[in-house]
Amino acid sequence: MLVVLAACGGIDRAEYIARDPCAPLALTAATATPAELDGIAGAIALWRDRGVSAFDAAPAEAPAIEIGFDDAAPAFHGAYDPDHARVLINRDIADAATLGVVIAHELGHVFGLVHVAPAARMSVMNPGNLITPPTDDDQRAMQALWGSCR
Ligand SMILES: [Zn+2]
Repeated sequence: MLVVLAACGGIDRAEYIARDPCAPLALTAATATPAELDGIAGAIALWRDRGVSAFDAAPAEAPAIEIGFDDAAPAFHGAYDPDHARVLINRDIADAATLGVVIAHELGHVFGLVHVAPAARMSVMNPGNLITPPTDDDQRAMQALWGSCR
């Protein structure tokens, strides 16, 4: 069990229990548009390319994270609410590639990654990141927490 101190999008939390990126996890998005579903698929592909196996085969009984899209202030890209197993994404983000990066950032929080200052290195976990996908160093950070899935 990995307990993380992290916050994104102003959710004020002390700590939460991260999800194992090597254990089956379903993503649900009942209200998503086709473009938003593309963004979710993009985020899954980005992490799958970095060795995450959580989405390879999510059995029906797998725990689920809900991806919701809603109106929000422009500065707000996304947030992870671990109490409700929910990721909230700003509906105004229309570009599929950008959506993929923003959702991948929130999934990074789901899996226990914390923010990385841009001055330290480029990372999908840079606060407010809209352009940087998971990097080699992000993959190493994930594997340092959980080991290799395969
Ligand atoms: Zn964040």
